[in-house]
Parts: sequence; C-alpha cells; structure tokens
Amino acid sequence: MFGLIGHSTSFASARHLAERLGYPEYAAGDLDMWSSAPPQLVERFSVESLTGRRIEGAYIDSVFVPEMLRRFKTAKRKVLNAMELAQKSGIDSSALGGFTSIIFEDMNLLKEQQVRATTLEWERFTTGNTHTAWVICRQVEANAPLLGIDLAKATVAVVGATGDIGSAVCQWLSRRTGVAELLLVARKPQPLLDLQASLGCGRILPLEEALPQADVVVWVASMPESLSIDVANLRKPCLMVDGGYPKNLDSKAAAEGVHVLKGGIVEFYTDIDWQVVALAADMARPQRQMFACFAEAMLLDFEEHHTNFSWGRNNITLAAMDWIGAASLRHGFQAVGLETVVHLSRSTAGLARH
Ligand code: NDP
Repeated sequence: MFGLIGHSTSFASARHLAERLGYPEYAAGDLDMWSSAPPQLVERFSVESLTGRRIEGAYIDSVFVPEMLRRFKTAKRKVLNAMELAQKSGIDSSALGGFTSIIFEDMNLLKEQQVRATTLEWERFTTGNTHTAWVICRQVEANAPLLGIDLAKATVAVVGATGDIGSAVCQWLSRRTGVAELLLVARKPQPLLDLQASLGCGRILPLEEALPQADVVVWVASMPESLSIDVANLRKPCLMVDGGYPKNLDSKAAAEGVHVLKGGIVEFYTDIDWQVVALAADMARPQRQMFACFAEAMLLDFEEHHTNFSWGRNNITLAAMDWIGAASLRHGFQAVGLETVVHLSRSTAGLARH
C-alpha cells in the first residue's frame, strides 16, 4: 500500500476544502484551531499500472498549511504526526509531499524517530525527490527542442542548484544531457563551490546575472512571493521549468517568448478515482496529474521496492534516477509538457492561414 502525505497550498484553500468536504467547524476555525488539529487519512483509492498490477493507496492530510511555517514546533509536530498515522495505517511507502519533506530535512526530524509509542520506520517513507529530479530533466530535454532551443548549445540556469533536487538536476544535465553551459544559482557560497568542484563545470552567478544569459531556467527553490523577474531582459525564447513549491512563476514571467512549464508534475495514463486529492491539488487534469514525488511512492509500491528510496540531502545518483525513470515509464506516467501550448498555437496559426 502506498501513501501520499500532503497539505493544502494555503490556509484559505484549506478552509475552502474543509467546507466542501463537510467539516464546517474546520472551515470556520482559525489558525490556532488548525495548528492543534491531528492529521487525517481522508481518502483511499486503488490504481492500476499499465502492466496490469493494481495497488491500494491513501491520502493523508497533515493539516499543515504554509502559514504555519514560522510556527516551528507546530510544523514539526504536523509532519511527525502524519508520518505516525501513515505507519499505523499500514502504509508501506509514503511520499512526503509539499513542504513536509523540507520541514523533515530542515528541522532534522531524523532525530525524532520516536513519536509517542511509535518508532518511525524510515524505510516506509520517501521524499520523492529522485523521481522529481528525473521528471524535471525529462521536461527540459523534451520541451527545449519544441521551442527551437538546441540543448547542446544552450545555457541552462539552475536556481536552487545546491539543493537535493537541484544538485541531481545539475549532474544529469551536465553528464547525461550534455548542455553547453550550466549556471549555478543559490544564496550560500560554500555549497555552490562544493557543487562546482563535484560537477567539474558550471558558473556560479547571482540570480539577476544568470537569468538574462539563460535559454532554459530550472527553478528548484521555494522563492519568496516578493521575487520579481525583469522579463524584458530574458532571452527569447526562454523555457522556464517551475519546479519549486508553490508554483508561482507563470504570473511573474508572463511575456511573449517566455514559456513557463509546471515542473515535477506527471500525468498518469488513465483517470484515478480520487476526490480529495483532485480537489486539494491545483492541477490542469486533476484525475490524472500529480506531483512527481507522490508518483514515486506509487512506483515504489508497484515495484514492491519498499525502501526510503529518496532520503537525506544530496544523495541522489544518476543510477537511481535511471531506475525510477524506467519504472515511471513502465507503469504509465509521463512528464507534463508544453505540447498542448505548441499544439494550440499551431492550430491557431492554421486557422489564421485558412
Ligand atoms: P532543498 O532545501 O534541498 O534546496 C533548496 C535550494 O534552493 C538550495 O540550493 C537553496 O540554497 C536554494 N534557495 C533557497 N532559497 C533561495 C533563494 N531565495 N534564491 C536562490 N536560491 C535559493 O530543497 P529540495 O531540493 O528538496 O526542493 C526544492 C524545491 O522543489 C522546493 O521548493 C520544494 O518544495 C520543491 N519540490 C517540488 C516537487 C514537485 O513539484 N513535484 C517535489 C518536491 C519538492 P541556499 O539556501 O544556499 O539559497
């Protein structure tokens, strides 16, 4: 059995969801009330792979909302309680979705293995970051050529390059894809120097200098709401893969020739009969699309590979990306792409010609 541990994208959307699901006391509750609320296993569903294998899954809402990020003790308690509930519910592989994996790592919850009477078994959990990194790299490889960008000649900026996902993306793009140049962007200098040394390539630049030089920008950092992008200075065409959470680049980088793609999102080959996940996730096709980290928990269960596959920071290997990527394709996932946009603009152009 697989599990998805998630949360709403904001307090307002969490209250709205509670109202739709028939929990009026939660819909009217304030942040203090939500802070003390326990996690909920809100939905069970079953999923069939392209191979014909059927597995059962569950969605656990941690009842965390991003507005609680500064309430450190609350955030920590929310993640640990959700993990405890997943384990007690008999779930073999659970993905830590949204901010829950970041809270786990940043607050060093490895030290908090004992939650009341439950000793958390780490092999039941994954951050899902290996699949996310692989999907983002596939999105770059598949979509840049659609815009006429030749990756062998292209400059690719990775914002959040030193992170768990970012460092894996840098490895893949430099060693597998073979992009012409990598620009490495993050705030702390030493991890950037360490990354550059381990890659044996890459130029370290501040964000405002990297953006105007990039044909492709991969965003794998949670950027502040206040971030603004000077679109006039971007290359055209420019592919932006918005792999951070929350995904807020489409409004910040809207301009002719700038193509923003939701990064780290996959589409399953068939509809999944889930209701709450569809309501909670902000997806274009909510019965099929999901975060790649969630899909990783499904893949581990399809493959009966019940390990903490993605764990800790900066441990992702190219071999692990190959493995999860092959499983992803075998079981019926596809990275979301720009095809729809390109297809629409082609047919619009066709209409104009006739
Ligand atoms: P990490 O915490 O490991 O890495 C974050 C990276 O971003 C670091 O390199 C950090 O370096 C950098 N960073 C943070 N803030 C800024 C900033 N203001 N400007 C420039 N760089 C910055 O995170 P993960 O790799 O685990 O996750 C990365 C992102 O991907 C997160 O937003 C996460 O929520 C999202 N995610 C998305 C998924 C999906 O869409 N399917 C699945 C899983 C995660 P420094 O601190 O030095 O700046």
